[in-house]
Amino acid sequence: MLSELKTQLEKNNFIPLHDYMALCNARYYGAEKSIGAEGDFITAPEISQIFGELLGVWVVQRWQDMGKPGHFHLIELGPGRGTLMFDMLHVMRQFPAAFDAAEIHLVENSPRLRGIQKETLTEFGKSMHWHDALHPLPDAPFIVIANEFFDALPIQQIVYSMNGWLERGAVMKNNKLEYATRETTDEFLKSFPKPSTAPVPGSMLEHCPAMHAWLNVFLTRMQSQPGSALIIDYGYTHHDYGDTFQALYHHQFADPLERAGEQDLTAHVNFAAIRDFAARGGLQCAGPITQGEFLKRIGIEIRAQKLLEKITEPADKIGLMEGVHRLTAGEEMGTLFKVICLSSPELPMPEGFHAS
Ligand code: SAH
Repeated sequence: MLSELKTQLEKNNFIPLHDYMALCNARYYGAEKSIGAEGDFITAPEISQIFGELLGVWVVQRWQDMGKPGHFHLIELGPGRGTLMFDMLHVMRQFPAAFDAAEIHLVENSPRLRGIQKETLTEFGKSMHWHDALHPLPDAPFIVIANEFFDALPIQQIVYSMNGWLERGAVMKNNKLEYATRETTDEFLKSFPKPSTAPVPGSMLEHCPAMHAWLNVFLTRMQSQPGSALIIDYGYTHHDYGDTFQALYHHQFADPLERAGEQDLTAHVNFAAIRDFAARGGLQCAGPITQGEFLKRIGIEIRAQKLLEKITEPADKIGLMEGVHRLTAGEEMGTLFKVICLSSPELPMPEGFHAS
């Protein structure tokens, strides 16, 4: 077992779900092979280069919307193996003014993944800046891209009981971790969503403090600089009760309390919370819409058709079409994944969010 986890359990005989998830994921992303076909999960940019290429064009268009600033920050949160940034920069090179204006910032707390990102991205000859965690964004126009980042950030959970709301966590029993609850405070409960129906015993709610910390950073900057943050993730669009805490191990769902630090722990993103945050802060909010809809609106079908004309190998043609299907089809990633874009209020609506 992870030594930090053991220490916490020995000291308090309880670990909040949030702290458990944080400890496990810090270990997990530092270990070999998490993302990709051989790892535990596969992400959109790892499925098809089309994903990153379309986002590269989207970034160029957003930069144009901002009045083509001579210098802007392109910030990726949780870049994984660097594949998405690679595909975006690859396309952006065809738009030299935008490519040259972009200063690259990568937020990554895994030293191992930073190493891979560095290797993947050197060929662009641009200086790259890495950040460990939440940081105040630099004072310049900016575009943030976060694909499957917020789902990896630790959540807090509460469970409704006959005695009111309790915080969920884990305890050690017979050498095994088990879910448990403890009393909580009104202050702690304040940030959780408020669904329209009354809770019943067993109802659960989730809150992701780190996501809100990031939203606050965006808000502060978007009030003084043109900025946009495009967030893509799996999640829900209405405040509701539910437990979305999950583990993936070798592409299969697993018990999140097993194999601490060796499997991918995530929770669904509450897009309704992001939308409400934008409304409260006076930001422009586009979406959420489904990933399938977004990719179609930014031209995935036309791009795939063009690529098909260039490909000669039948197997490659099939591979391309399979990739597009996985990214857009309702029964694959097309519906579960959502896209939302927060921006400074004066900017026009971003590409991909206009009703077709
Ligand atoms: N965006 C990538 C990878 C998603 S996996 C893709 O689409 O393929 C999540 C990424 O976020 C990993 O790079 C992981 O190391 C990073 N990450 C997770 N928690 C983090 C945290 N608290 N701070 C910074 N980076 C984090």
